[in-house]
Amino acid sequence: MADTVETPMESLEYRTEVKQLLDILAHSLYTDREIFLRELISNASDALNRIQFEMLTNHDVVDPEAELAIHIEVDDEAKLITIRDAGIGMNRDELVENLGTIAHSGARTFLQNAGQSQNTLEEIIGQFGVGFYSVFMVAEEVTVLSRSFRPQDRAAMWRSTGDSRFSLADAEKPQRGTEIRIRLKEDAAEFASAWRLESIIKRHSDYVSFPIYVKGEEDEPKIANRRTALWRQSPSKVGAAEYEEFYKQLTFDEEAPLLHIHMVADAPANVRSILFVPAKRERSSLRLRPEHGVRLYSRKILIQEHNKELLPEYLRFVEGVVDSEDLPLNVSRETVQSNPVTRQLRKALTSRLLKDLKTLAEQDAAQYTTFWTEFGAFIKEGIASDFASRDALEELLRFRSTHTGADGWTTIKEYVARMQPDQNAIYYILGDSLKSAIRSPHLDYFRKHAIEVLYFTDFIDGYMVSQLREVEGKPLQNVDDANLDLPKGTPAEDASALQVSQDVFDQLLARVKRVLGERVRDVREGKTLVDSPARLVSSEDDFARELQYVRRAIEEDYVAPVKILEINRHHPIVANLSRLVSEDGDNALIEPAVEQLFDNLQLLDGAYQGSVADMVDRIQKLMGAALRD
Ligand code: ADP
Ligand code: MG
Repeated sequence: MADTVETPMESLEYRTEVKQLLDILAHSLYTDREIFLRELISNASDALNRIQFEMLTNHDVVDPEAELAIHIEVDDEAKLITIRDAGIGMNRDELVENLGTIAHSGARTFLQNAGQSQNTLEEIIGQFGVGFYSVFMVAEEVTVLSRSFRPQDRAAMWRSTGDSRFSLADAEKPQRGTEIRIRLKEDAAEFASAWRLESIIKRHSDYVSFPIYVKGEEDEPKIANRRTALWRQSPSKVGAAEYEEFYKQLTFDEEAPLLHIHMVADAPANVRSILFVPAKRERSSLRLRPEHGVRLYSRKILIQEHNKELLPEYLRFVEGVVDSEDLPLNVSRETVQSNPVTRQLRKALTSRLLKDLKTLAEQDAAQYTTFWTEFGAFIKEGIASDFASRDALEELLRFRSTHTGADGWTTIKEYVARMQPDQNAIYYILGDSLKSAIRSPHLDYFRKHAIEVLYFTDFIDGYMVSQLREVEGKPLQNVDDANLDLPKGTPAEDASALQVSQDVFDQLLARVKRVLGERVRDVREGKTLVDSPARLVSSEDDFARELQYVRRAIEEDYVAPVKILEINRHHPIVANLSRLVSEDGDNALIEPAVEQLFDNLQLLDGAYQGSVADMVDRIQKLMGAALRD
C-alpha cells in the first residue's frame, strides 16, 4: 500500500460548483450516510466494466491478468477504509478532471434541485446520490491512488479533506486500477466495521456483477455480494422480492416498481432481459433521471449503460437490463445501432412490454389506472410515432368522457360498444382542461341525445389525434367540426320551438357580423345548441386544427385561424338580443352584448387574448343596465 510520493504535492482549488456541493454536504445532517459506499462501489464497478470492454479489443493494458474485482479492507483501530479496484484507472489529468470538477450528471442534478426543490436536502441526497463527493459525509480525509490501464501513463495520487482544495502528486503504483483510502470522521467511526460494511453491501450493491471482497483486521477476505445476473435466470426461479431488490439497486429508486417483465427467448434473437416500469414518473422522467436507456450486456459484459435503440423513444420511462448473445462481443457502441439484431430485439421487447401492460389492465384495473395517470402521455406519444405498434397501443388508451365523468376512464372499445345505433363516428372534444371542456357549448347537442363524447384535454392529445384518424374502424370526429356527421334519429332542433321570426333573427345575424368583422369567418344559426347561446366552430378546411392547442401552448405569438360563430336562436339571451336589434337598433347595449357573447366563447375555449380591463369595463356596463330598474 505504499504511496511513495515522487514529486512535491501540488495544491489545486476545486471548481466553484464542487465547493458548493462540498459545503452542502459538510453541513447536511443526512442520516443515511451509508450510501457513500454504494457510490464508491458503483464507481469501481463502472471502472471494471470499462476495462472489461476495453480488453475485448485491446490487449496492451497494464496488468491484463488482474482479477476483475473490488477489495474492501477495514482497519477498525485506525478508522480507515480502503476500497480497491482493478478497473480502468485514472492518470493525473483524469484525476483532476473527474474529481476536481462536476463532470458527471448526478451531482449536477443534485445541485440544481438543492437550489429550487422544496424537498429536504436529505431526500435529495438519497434520491440522486451525489457520486464520489458523498464520501465527504463520512471522511476526514480521502486519498485516491490510481494507475490508468494505459501502459505509458504514470500513477498519480489525489488527496483532500473536503474543504476548498485538493492536492496532487505523482505516485508509485504497479497494479492497474484505483485505490481509495478513507480516514473516517470521528462521528462516522461506526463504518469501520467489516460486518457493517457487509450489510451495507447486501442492501445496496448485492447485484453488482464483480465480486466485492471485504476483509476485517484479522479475517480472510470474504465475498459480500451475490453477483447474480438475475436476468439470466429462469423467471420461475426468481421471486417478487428479488425483482424488487434488483430494481432498487439498479436504479437507486426507493420505491418498488409497478411492473417487471422478465423475458427469456432464443428466437428470433437470443435475449435475456428484465424491464421495469417504475411506480412514478417523477424519478423516471428525463427531468430527474440524468439519462434514459436500458443497460445493454452481451454475455454479462456491459456494452452500453444507456442504450436508446433497444426501445422506442416513447418508452423512455422503462428501466432495465437487456443481454443478448447474438450481439457480437466486439461490437462497438456505435455499431449496436446499425446491427440487425438490435432491430429484432427492439421489436420483441416492445411488443412484449405492450402485451404485459395490456395484461396488467385486464387483471388489475387499479394498478393500470396508476400506470395510466403516470405514463399515459408516453403511450399517446407512441400512438403518434410508432405505427407498427398501433393496435397494441390503442388498447392501452384510456380517456375521460361525458359517460365516465371526471372520475372514471373508458377504453375506445367500451366507447364503441355504447355507441348509438346510427352513430358512425367517435366524437371527441379538445380542450385545455377537463373543467372547461365539460362546460363547453359544443356538448349541448350530445348531452341532449345521450351521445358520448371523449374528453381530449391532455397537452399531447391534439398531437395524438392528428395522427389517429380512425380507431376500431370508426373515424374520430371533433365536436367543433362544422359538418358533423350526426346519428340519424337525433334531429337538430325543430322549427316549432322558435322564439323569434326568421326575419328578426336574420337581422341579428347581420348585426353580429358587422360588429365582429374579421374576427369570425361567418355567423350562422347553430342547430346543435341547446343550453348555450352560441359556439365557435372550425371550418372544415382548417388544416390540422387539433394542433392548435399544442401550438398555442408553445408558440408565443401564435394566431389561431378564424372560426365560424354559430348562434342558438332558442336561447333567451339571443331571442331578447334579436328583438332589441330589430326594435331599437341604436341601443348602446347591443354592441357590448355581442362582444361579450363572443369573448365568453373564447374564454371557454381557453383562447381569450384580449384585455381583461376592457372586459371588466364592459361587464360593468352590462350589469349597470341589468340592475337599473
Ligand atoms: P459518476 O459516477 O456519476 O460519473 P462520480 O462522482 O461518482 O460520478 O465519479 C466521477 C468520475 O470519477 C467518474 O465518472 C469516473 O470517471 C471517475 N471515477 C470515480 N471513481 C473511479 C474509479 N474507481 N475508477 C476509475 N474512475 C473513477
Ligand atoms: Mg458514480
